[in-house]
Amino acid sequence: MQLFQSWATVRGLIASPTAYVDRTPQRRELRFSRSEDAKMEASYRTHWVSPELSEAKRERLTEKASRGPELVVVQPLNTEWTCHRCGGTGNLLMMEPAGPACLRCVGLDDLEFLSAGDALLTRRVKANSARYAVVVRFSRTRRRYERQGLLVEPRALAEAR
Ligand SMILES: [Zn+2]
Repeated sequence: MQLFQSWATVRGLIASPTAYVDRTPQRRELRFSRSEDAKMEASYRTHWVSPELSEAKRERLTEKASRGPELVVVQPLNTEWTCHRCGGTGNLLMMEPAGPACLRCVGLDDLEFLSAGDALLTRRVKANSARYAVVVRFSRTRRRYERQGLLVEPRALAEAR
């Protein structure tokens, strides 16, 4: 890491610290090293970006990396499922290591559904919504999950419209 750091400095790259978060609504910060050594953590967390990128572009890159992986919410094909936390159910769920959880239990039940189709509206709302989740549904014919739309903050949706 130290070696790379000097190499990057020589090449004139710019250090850009990034907060990595996990794929849960709590967005816990990811740890890179078992020891959680502060110096090592900082070096893993640092992205090196070219100074040739404009400042706006660099900011966008950092912002994107900081957001972490997108939250994924599933529209289950089988509606007879039970939340592993509260025993409830619903038309959307989030998979957790222990099993499916309802949106109330993961703290996303205040979000509103925006169906896919309007790319411009989707982009606007996504940029404006501090929290959002991608809604997917399994296609039996295509044998893969397909995007149905987004869950977004009602305020962001109202503003974008
Ligand atoms: Zn629940």
